[in-house]
Parts: sequence; C-alpha cells; structure tokens
Amino acid sequence: MRIGSGYDIHVLVPGRPLMLGGIRIPSDKGEMAHSDGDVLIHALIDAILGAYAKGDIGSHFPPSDERWKDADSSTLLSMVLDECRPVFSNIDCTVFLEKPRLREHIDIIRESLSRLLSLDVDMISVKAKTAEKCFGELGSGDAVVAAVTVLVED
Ligand code: MG
Repeated sequence: MRIGSGYDIHVLVPGRPLMLGGIRIPSDKGEMAHSDGDVLIHALIDAILGAYAKGDIGSHFPPSDERWKDADSSTLLSMVLDECRPVFSNIDCTVFLEKPRLREHIDIIRESLSRLLSLDVDMISVKAKTAEKCFGELGSGDAVVAAVTVLVED
C-alpha cells in the first residue's frame, strides 16, 4: 500500500462560488483562486500525487500557466487520475470552515467525490470542523482549509 496526505488553504471573498469536492455550496463567499479554487479537490490531488511521490499540484498545474485559469478542479483531478491510475482503499477528508456549516452538505460532497473517483461512497469520509474562531482568517470565516489522506494500492 501507499499513503498520501494533502493540504490546501484558500482565502474566501464575496462574489466567488464556494466549491468543495466538485459541489457548489450556497455561501456569500467563495475561494479566491486562479482555478475554481476547490480547496478539497486540491488537497485530494496533492494526497494522490504524494502517495506516488509525483510532486504536487503546483508542479503539475502552475498558476503562471494561463491554461489553468478558472480551471474546473474536477478536470485537474481527472488528469491526475489518468497519470497515477490509483486503486484506492479509502480516503479521509477534513474541511475547516467557519461558515456555512457543512453538516447538511456532507453526503452530497461524498457522493460527488464517489463519482469523480469511481470509488464506493462508503470508502469516502468527509468531516467538517470549525476553527473555533482561532487561526486568524480561518477563524473569522475569511479562509477555508482542507486536509486529505488517501490509502492506495502500490
Ligand atoms: Mg488550491
């Protein structure tokens, strides 16, 4: 087996969509980013690349490259899946977000990831936490963080 971990953070600003796991979550703020800013998919991509020691999202999709401007993160994920051909055991994700509360959206996000990864939804965990008003912008609701761990077959 191989294990990989990924992490990402994006600033949240008004007038942008809040994308998490390929799903748009109703919110008055969304990720500021060169791509669509889907922090959860970005952390997932880094976890997959990490499992296979194939660099990171920045080396594959540099922000300086205009091809990735406003890119659909699901497309970037599918390119990484094509490169790594992972056979997943399971994935475990944590999203740190002050608001909106994600509880009612968790299963929709899991189902979206299940479709994107062709992986049974029972093998996909998505947990949501707040920052308890700590950690500066994260605690004030002006940033979102995602952390992902994947276990894959060698
Ligand atoms: Mg990112």
